[in-house]
Amino acid sequence: ARAKLASLRDVPSATRDGVEIDLHANIELPIELAAALENGATGIGLLRSEFMFMNKDYLPDEDEQYAELADIVTRMEGKPVTIRTLDIGGEKLAVALQAEMGSGPNPALGLRGIRLSLRKPELLEAQMAAILRVSLLGPVRVLIPMVVSVHEMSRARQIYQSVAKRLREQGHAIPDELPPLGAMIEIPAAALTIDALARESDFFAIGTNDLTQYTLAIDRTDDQVAGLYDPLHPSVLRLIRDVIKTSCERNIPISVCGEMAGDPRYTPLFIGFGLRNLSMSSVSLLPVKQRLRRLDTRNSEQQAARVMEQWDSARIAMMLDDFNDLA
Ligand code: PEP
Ligand code: MG
Repeated sequence: ARAKLASLRDVPSATRDGVEIDLHANIELPIELAAALENGATGIGLLRSEFMFMNKDYLPDEDEQYAELADIVTRMEGKPVTIRTLDIGGEKLAVALQAEMGSGPNPALGLRGIRLSLRKPELLEAQMAAILRVSLLGPVRVLIPMVVSVHEMSRARQIYQSVAKRLREQGHAIPDELPPLGAMIEIPAAALTIDALARESDFFAIGTNDLTQYTLAIDRTDDQVAGLYDPLHPSVLRLIRDVIKTSCERNIPISVCGEMAGDPRYTPLFIGFGLRNLSMSSVSLLPVKQRLRRLDTRNSEQQAARVMEQWDSARIAMMLDDFNDLA
């Protein structure tokens, strides 16, 4: 089975009816890059930048971040890389920041993601500067985590533009049109106001891990309630469906990059919702490609519509298992 999967590496990633689907890799550590390429990733859909901050008792400056990111972008040889700004906080900790900021009573609902970046703008400035400089080495996009409001995106964009101006003044050849700046859709508030966020975002990436956690009020790291964590809850599926629909209507590039994206059981659902770009752990790339190559988009649309009539997630899971690709 493994040899069969491996043979899929270089075949096109498209449905039976010829609709091309972009399959990108999620990367947490640079060492994972080789596996992404080996498994045929056509880009990095989520580069979690936390690795540059973890296990360090200081905050890495612009040059140090540039060096680490430049290595990754160069090794991708022209394939797109979506770099997420710092998402420390919640279940992700950094020694240097922890010492300085402490942690609130409920880290998952506390100072994390873009909230922390706007509270400490010099952090965001250094990251954005490093990313803008690596954009001269290959196509990149900047992804902002934990967004809940348009205001956060417009603040982020102001900072982005001022950093670009400063870099140009320092002699860097930053182009007039900056790399796309997009928002993670991983909090229900963002999903429910996606039309508003569209005004300030060049692209969206749905994070199903946090979207599930915050929609169901279930801490994804708490073993006591882990059994209740359920991405197939109709509330989560409705948010995902509606975000994809609005993004497609407005021609805003949209991807899904949470764990769900890497589960081949869910592939027909996403394709049926109109999604054409998924980002996942590298080990999932070929299984998902295998699944989608047997799908027909029309069929998937009908199957997705039937799933969305259901209210019981156990029933939804059964339906997804039952869908026969060649029906
Ligand atoms: C998510 O929340 O789904 C996501 C992709 O981000 P992370 O898992 O890094 O929080
Ligand atoms: Mg997240």
